[in-house]
Amino acid sequence: MADPFLYMRSLQLQGLNRLVKVDVPVPVPRADEVLIRTKAATICTSDLHDIRSNPFGIQYPRVMGHEGAGVVVACGSDIMGYAPGTRVAAHPVVPCMTCDECKRGLEHLCSRMGHLGIDRDGCFAEYFVQRADRVRAIPDNISFPLGALLEPVAVCLEAISRSGDMNGKTVLVAGDGPFGNIIARLAQRAGAARVLVSGREHFRLQMIPGVEIVDTVKERSVDVAILAVSAASAVETCLQALRPRGRLVVFSTVQEPVALNLFNIHVSELEVVGACNDENKIDESLQCLTEESLALEDIITHHIPFDRWEEAFDLARNGHSRALKVALVFD
Ligand SMILES: [Zn+2]
Ligand SMILES: [Zn+2]
Repeated sequence: MADPFLYMRSLQLQGLNRLVKVDVPVPVPRADEVLIRTKAATICTSDLHDIRSNPFGIQYPRVMGHEGAGVVVACGSDIMGYAPGTRVAAHPVVPCMTCDECKRGLEHLCSRMGHLGIDRDGCFAEYFVQRADRVRAIPDNISFPLGALLEPVAVCLEAISRSGDMNGKTVLVAGDGPFGNIIARLAQRAGAARVLVSGREHFRLQMIPGVEIVDTVKERSVDVAILAVSAASAVETCLQALRPRGRLVVFSTVQEPVALNLFNIHVSELEVVGACNDENKIDESLQCLTEESLALEDIITHHIPFDRWEEAFDLARNGHSRALKVALVFD
């Protein structure tokens, strides 16, 4: 058991636009948790939103970070499976297992959901704890930064799953950020015949192998459109690209209300579905991380030592012309 009186470096959100490096006590795992020494943690678009506008109502102060991998250093009293030293990746979502949604099997839509970096301290720290059922051992061929993509890839698998059968279909991915990039790769894996991607940054678009880069889709030619950008204007663009019986998957958060052309939805029998978190995609995600054809490690363009965190966040926020996913790495 790690000494509970030890302190560790962490990045704590103390208010809007106030992410601060502070020393805090090393957390102590509860009976059903493991304590992980962080080796890599990736910065998520949602971290940037949390810092700027706190849409999920984070109570300050809070250690941020929800995409992390590292090494088990201690286990709670109920946990047998992890020898200290086991290399692991963590999924940040902690379903309560007792609410109505959890009982329906929709644990990813839990009404009392816990989440690393939101209602409990996360992995932008030298150590973090997570409930053991949300942790997976990773093989040696998965690096720690790649392991940190366990949850981003899982949520992208949810977008694929909510799209229905992609085999032979034409899929439009609106958005060239880390999520758009992962989704476009997974759409090809799911058998899509054509994957079209729209976005603004040439650097990001050219990083996705095997796709067609498009500005706008003129005729109604798309079976599935996946919204992976939070611009409201992209919603109507996606809907207009859909052929009859096409489906729009709302993956990204669009903050402002959007006027939908329901006449179009009616006459073309379009479908609009959401994709949020992931329904038990954690093990399939782990599998994807090992698949060489997906080359998911390429998405991480920068590995920055933890102490240079300000540079890392600046790159994630403003470096769209040269950065995709930015990883903080720990020595
Ligand atoms: Zn994330
Ligand atoms: Zn629940």
